[in-house]
Amino acid sequence: MKRAVQPQTGRPPAFAYRQLSTGIFRLRSAQSLLHCDSVPLSRIAERFGTPLYVYSASAVRERLRAFDRAFRNIPHTICYSVKANSNLSILRLLGKMGCGFDVVSGGELERVLRVEKPAAKKVVFSGVGKTSEEMNAALKARILLFNVESESELWMLAECAARLRQRARVALRVNPDVPADTHPYISTGLHEHKFGIPIREARKLYAQASGSKYLQVSGVSVHIGSQITEVEPFGQAIGRVADLVDQLLADGHNIEYVDAGGGLGIDYKGHSSRNLSEYVSAYAGVLLRPLRRLKVHLLLEPGRCIIGPAGALLTRVLYRKTNGKRKFLVVDAAMNDMLRPSLYNAYHQIVPVREPTERSSETVDVVGPICESGDFFARNRQLPIANEGDLLAILDAGAYGMALASNYNSRPRPAELLVEGKSVKLIRRRERIEDLLRSEMT
Ligand SMILES: *Cc1c(COP(=O)(O)O)cnc(C)c1O
Repeated sequence: MKRAVQPQTGRPPAFAYRQLSTGIFRLRSAQSLLHCDSVPLSRIAERFGTPLYVYSASAVRERLRAFDRAFRNIPHTICYSVKANSNLSILRLLGKMGCGFDVVSGGELERVLRVEKPAAKKVVFSGVGKTSEEMNAALKARILLFNVESESELWMLAECAARLRQRARVALRVNPDVPADTHPYISTGLHEHKFGIPIREARKLYAQASGSKYLQVSGVSVHIGSQITEVEPFGQAIGRVADLVDQLLADGHNIEYVDAGGGLGIDYKGHSSRNLSEYVSAYAGVLLRPLRRLKVHLLLEPGRCIIGPAGALLTRVLYRKTNGKRKFLVVDAAMNDMLRPSLYNAYHQIVPVREPTERSSETVDVVGPICESGDFFARNRQLPIANEGDLLAILDAGAYGMALASNYNSRPRPAELLVEGKSVKLIRRRERIEDLLRSEMT
């Protein structure tokens, strides 16, 4: 089937086609160009080179506000999941809007402290393998909450807190044993996964924790996985958490916080007609139903849903080639710049920066220069015909894009730009070969 390729235009202010206007003249004959807010992507590609990550600050704001609005009827804090995109300027933007942060390493904590020290009191620390050094740093920063994932970790935390003569606020991350329809690598809420404490064993552990004067039992946390686009599994998980909270309250614990984790997915294929507010409201609906009867402060840890659609990866076509019947576009970005297609076989829409005027299209593989057959962005994709030198935008690349980038094949990582309205800010310069070599000895 040759479905006409309709490049995505429905996500303004970011990543929509617009006619280029020069001064007071609108060039009627000119083609439309993909813009990020008011900035044509071709212009910034020329100025900053490719591959290049571009983020829209307006889109980030809009998405964060949608969460805040959907949860306005319950005391809540949005703790943006730093691992989705940890650029300091992105963290600052979110911090200035009152966001808290979910960190999974000492490095991520340090990033938050660098840009928004007061946000420490809104930081939750997650992860199955926190080291004592990381715990010490988090205790010294007086973070809000440790999401503890095992009994051994609980005692390690108590030891660290004792040494610093502090009380650590803890939640146990429970594993609710609910399946979520997502890629197996990013599903986390089943007993077979390494995450959390089986919910049936949690009560016993809470009793033990409350016996330590260096631990302050404060909450229950859950996170069932990532890129989950149906809201029901979240409802199921939080229902089980709410039942546990009832029991814990009856046991005499003071449960102030319920941390619902992150994981709300995004529409990578651009098929859904649901708008953001409706979607986040549906999510809020299933979370709030079981929580309403409890007097708790809700913590949310969205990552992808905040930053994913707010970013794109710009890349230029280097070569067209044909192997037998297979057509390839070799582009200047590769799996080291964006790993999701290679790692999860993830789908990302790819659109030309110059809006195609004809309807002609072809089936191609979009691949990078790296020496692996797994280095692709799309396979068998119906795309408008692109020539060598043309610019393409890989959409929804804001989350787990740059965050997963590496130097494989000794490729320097891309630059990152933050656009707001007409303003363009370089928020990370392109790496140089010297940056790669600096930490090595000969
Ligand atoms: C990865 C992660 C998140 C964020 O997940 P998204 O799918 O990006 O929303 C939140 N909480 C925890 C504990 C995580 O590991």
